[in-house]
Amino acid sequence: MLPLQVDLRYNVAVCTGCCTGLAFDHIQSHLRMVHGIRVQLDAVMEQLNIEACTLSSAEIKTWMSEVWVLPNAIKGVPVRAGIACKECQHSAPDITSMKVHFSNRHPDLKTKDNIMKCNIQMPFQGRLKKHIQIEDAEGHEVEMDAGNDWK
Ligand SMILES: [Zn+2]
Ligand SMILES: [Zn+2]
Repeated sequence: MLPLQVDLRYNVAVCTGCCTGLAFDHIQSHLRMVHGIRVQLDAVMEQLNIEACTLSSAEIKTWMSEVWVLPNAIKGVPVRAGIACKECQHSAPDITSMKVHFSNRHPDLKTKDNIMKCNIQMPFQGRLKKHIQIEDAEGHEVEMDAGNDWK
């Protein structure tokens, strides 16, 4: 068994070992470099039980550049408590990174008055890294962050 599953709703492959989404074109190198597994692509397709490729790194890059909120969490990727900017939907895991966001993007606004609690997920790693707000985290255990008691 390969440490892979697919979220068919978003057509995203997920590494169950690392709990992170994987671009289709990164699956083989991820399995080889991180897990020491050499595998053919047809074995990947078979394990995922799919006939068409899941999202590629180019598709994910476009997607991540456009999305700030997802209605549902990507299956297999942890959901954690975070905070969201009310001005622009940017989300962050903690107040420190949110303060950086405010000084870059909204220097005239007070961070504390313009944020709200939310659930977040970081679906991908590496260059595709970005925090996304999850509207409905039902069925996912939300990990609380100790550094998150700003309220
Ligand atoms: Zn992995
Ligand atoms: Zn903002």
